[in-house]
Amino acid sequence: MTKKHLTTREDIERFTACWRRLLGLTQWDIVTSFHKELDDGRTMDMQWIRGYLSAGLRVSEDALRLRPSRAEKSVIHELLHLVFAPVDDRMELIVGHGTVMLEFRQEMERALDGLSVRLQEGGYV
Ligand SMILES: [Zn+2]
Repeated sequence: MTKKHLTTREDIERFTACWRRLLGLTQWDIVTSFHKELDDGRTMDMQWIRGYLSAGLRVSEDALRLRPSRAEKSVIHELLHLVFAPVDDRMELIVGHGTVMLEFRQEMERALDGLSVRLQEGGYV
């Protein structure tokens, strides 16, 4: 597959489908939706339902204006959330919604940022 800039919704959907396969997430039902803007100035976020293989990737219009490598990293980061969704879900069941969960999620964000950069730089697409 040739490297493409992610400047259209179709580009984002194609890139997401490719990395969904690469990350072994084919059993997940992932719906991508596009929005004028997201909370807190985010460009993308992933939401899933605990216990189901059903998720939603929300993408803001700003995502289409990101540098290609940044947009790719963001898609990979959001998909990695699903790889670790069982860990996140189990942790939440054990510790609840307090400070421990908040700190766990902050560390998870950092870990996924690092992983997504490495995978994006690996240039598998
Ligand atoms: Zn994240």
